[in-house]
Amino acid sequence: MPLTDHQLEDSDLLPFMNRPCRDIPDDNIRAGALIRHQLDPDSGWSRLIDNMRTFSQNENTIVNVAGIPIHISLNITRTPSLTANTFEKSKGRFSVPNCFLCNLDKKQRGVLTLDDRYLILANPGVTMPGDLTIASVGHEKQLIAGHFNDMIKLAEKLYGYSIFFNGALAGASSPHFHFQAGVKDSLIGEGQLDSILRGNKPGDVQLIKLTDRDDPAVFLIENFLRPCFICDTKKAESLAHFFDFFQDILFQSNKKISGIPNVPDFGQHIEPLDMIESEPRMNILLKYYPESGLYRAALFPKVYNRPSFYFNDGDNQIILGMAIKEALGHLITCRKGDYDKLTQRPELVRRAYADTSLRHDEILFISNLIKKF
Ligand SMILES: [Zn+2]
Repeated sequence: MPLTDHQLEDSDLLPFMNRPCRDIPDDNIRAGALIRHQLDPDSGWSRLIDNMRTFSQNENTIVNVAGIPIHISLNITRTPSLTANTFEKSKGRFSVPNCFLCNLDKKQRGVLTLDDRYLILANPGVTMPGDLTIASVGHEKQLIAGHFNDMIKLAEKLYGYSIFFNGALAGASSPHFHFQAGVKDSLIGEGQLDSILRGNKPGDVQLIKLTDRDDPAVFLIENFLRPCFICDTKKAESLAHFFDFFQDILFQSNKKISGIPNVPDFGQHIEPLDMIESEPRMNILLKYYPESGLYRAALFPKVYNRPSFYFNDGDNQIILGMAIKEALGHLITCRKGDYDKLTQRPELVRRAYADTSLRHDEILFISNLIKKF
């Protein structure tokens, strides 16, 4: 069954839309109705229904790590993506028969968007209720090249959501091109970033403005456990232009990722994509505010998605994958022992960020080049 055969029309979604929304549905309203459709005992998708039931039993703790609150959850609905080693082990070539986004479950449904080039789906690995996976309709590779403008358009259309992207060796769990989305500002780090940009400084956080002009305004956030670059602009074309510039610099920097234990050297052949690594490693958040016209992008440069203790044996192993949601302060564990270790020893959280983020000297190298933007 091709991906497009899983689509729902507005007429299918109507019973799942709140009454005032029915007259002028947009993609935000469709996405909300899609989740209700997929959770419905009659029409729904059993995997999502089961996972939402499990989700309600999650354990959650907020841990203070060097003055920065980090949310740690024990969430077994995320086990498949947490343990996915799609980009770690040699697995068959980039092919449709092996692809879970090309082979959706029978009752899995979605909403087409962006000229029918993407299908919005419920994300069964629930970090927060309402989470979405937005998959390209064709079996395209997980490369942001040629897709960043789509990310901007999705942020505009899904303005009630934060749009996420994970690069291939930075935490993506499928080689088939996809974004994720979550209800805007539901992850702890999203509010922290906004607060820092308003001038608040939790812990030893530093906010450094790298550009003279105010649009685009580019900032570096330091001492936040993981370095983060922010680009604020009211012009979509300025954001796309800055992103190209940033990607080029980060690519130059990533060439130095070499000889780190358990971390693949940059630029090797990536078996699941059947190509040489061609893009720098990063996690991206993009939000759009229709009331002010502001686009806010947060870019997290990465070395890899697995911290060093992931590779330990036996009791010393902690299963953790550092992708965009972790960059936004929400760490997901799927074993009680791992959850207990991380909640009791904040220094392990600090290490997980330090192991997987780009090193400080490289952040300075990138920052100095951004000053010339
Ligand atoms: Zn596919």
